[in-house]
Order: sequence, then structure tokens, then C-alpha cells
Amino acid sequence: MEQRQNYSKKREAILKAIRSTTTHPTAEWVYQTLKPQHPDLSLGTVYRNIARFKENGQIISVGVVNGQERFDGNVKPHSHFICSVCGRVFDVGGDYLGREAAERIADRYRFQVNSSEVVFRGICAECLNRQSETPVGENHGRNF
Ligand SMILES: [Zn+2]
Ligand SMILES: [Zn+2]
Repeated sequence: MEQRQNYSKKREAILKAIRSTTTHPTAEWVYQTLKPQHPDLSLGTVYRNIARFKENGQIISVGVVNGQERFDGNVKPHSHFICSVCGRVFDVGGDYLGREAAERIADRYRFQVNSSEVVFRGICAECLNRQSETPVGENHGRNF
């Protein structure tokens, strides 16, 4: 069954693409990256497969940044920092960041906490540098 084979090959390529990067890509990025090798790939197929990977726990959703959902092929517990200027998503620290809070929540609400993700938002080092380098009022001609 050629079609079937082709289908699972695409699915594999989509998962591989997401796991190959630490940039926490969007579905659109996956589509653009794979399109040259898979000319008949559709954005719908990418979305469908991503939804399935999420369900199966093969990838995680980091959240929505600038209107686009971001995904992570690293499913080990870790936390994220999202830059509100450039939209990049960074991995920071480990699950220890959420553990203490999880214990407090379990204690206070009598819940059983199975996992936690901490998302920090702010401005990354690069954007901070760029901001301090660019004199106020000279933002018209972007020089980067
Ligand atoms: Zn930034
Ligand atoms: Zn991550």
C-alpha cells in the first residue's frame, strides 16, 4: 500500500523535524521545513499529526506566542522562558522550578499534582542588549 507508506513516512518526518530543533517550532515552520522534500505535504496534515503527537505525549505544546502555538520535542519536564520582543522560546532549568509550587498546591487544595510546567515571560538577553544599543528615536531604519 503505497499511500499508507507515504503517509507514515510524512508522519515520521514531522516528528523528526520537531525533535531536531530546540527552537520550539510552529506548525507553519514544520510545514516550510519539510515542504522541499515532501512537495505534496499539506499544512492540514502537519496540524493533524501534531495533534496526534500531542495526544500520545510524543511532543508537548509550550503555549501560544504571537498567535502561533509552539511545540517541543523534548517531553522531559523543563521550564520555558518566552521573549515578548522576538518571540523566541528558551529552555530554562529543570522541573525543580515547579516542584515546590506543586507541593504547596497539593497541600493547600488536596490535589494530586502529576506534572507542572512553568512559563516565564519577559525580554531575552539579546533583545535587552539591542534595546540599550539603539538610541531612542532611531528605530526607523532597522539595522539588524
Ligand atoms: Zn528576544
Ligand atoms: Zn522546551
